[in-house]
Amino acid sequence: MRETLSMLTRLQEIDNTLDQLAHSKVDLPGEIEMLKGQVQELEDGIAEGETKLSELEKERRQEELGLEMAQDKLKKYQQQLYRIKTNREYDAIQAEIDAQKTKISEYEENILDLMTTSEELTETLQQRREELDNLKAENAPQWERLEKELSSIEDRMAIERDERKKVTVRLKRGVLAAYERIRVGKSGQAIVPIRKRACGGCFTTLPPQTIQEVRRTDRIITCENCGRIIYWDDNLKS
Ligand SMILES: [Zn+2]
Repeated sequence: MRETLSMLTRLQEIDNTLDQLAHSKVDLPGEIEMLKGQVQELEDGIAEGETKLSELEKERRQEELGLEMAQDKLKKYQQQLYRIKTNREYDAIQAEIDAQKTKISEYEENILDLMTTSEELTETLQQRREELDNLKAENAPQWERLEKELSSIEDRMAIERDERKKVTVRLKRGVLAAYERIRVGKSGQAIVPIRKRACGGCFTTLPPQTIQEVRRTDRIITCENCGRIIYWDDNLKS
């Protein structure tokens, strides 16, 4: 029984360490995600801007095509003007010439606007790319540190879990089940030593006969108040 109690306290130690490790890594994935998110946000913005820029360029080529066609038409009408015979024909052609001229100046205005917008966007994108580079350079060491920390905690947890297995395979199934059950209900602490004649878990003073029984160490005894397994410290010291 002494050995069982000794293994249970060892198990409790391992579980406490595992709880602490699990607690200390809780925030790490979130912090890593946040750093990733900052980079992602900028990258998304840049990608969006690049799409917009290519749309603007496509639009501009369309306008340039329109401009070329209007210029061709204008030239054609201007040549027709020399072969005009009647005033009516003259007026008709002149109206076409005016219409093409209006179109041309509209096209030119649109092209200029599109170019200005493109230039501004190009400049903004350049700034965003620099921001992204800076952010990456700034985040990289922090990111690396967090990833390292996380993997070191996970390594330590793996070691503790191996240790735990070594202990649990040696415990009777019923004892282990009792330990697990108490642990769940008692915020992780299933086995406690007697301290100053009281339960080390809930601090309730124990009856002398209970203490005597615990000291005899021939069966597992639990605190009547909190249900934790209690043991006599000196009994486990070798
Ligand atoms: Zn208790």
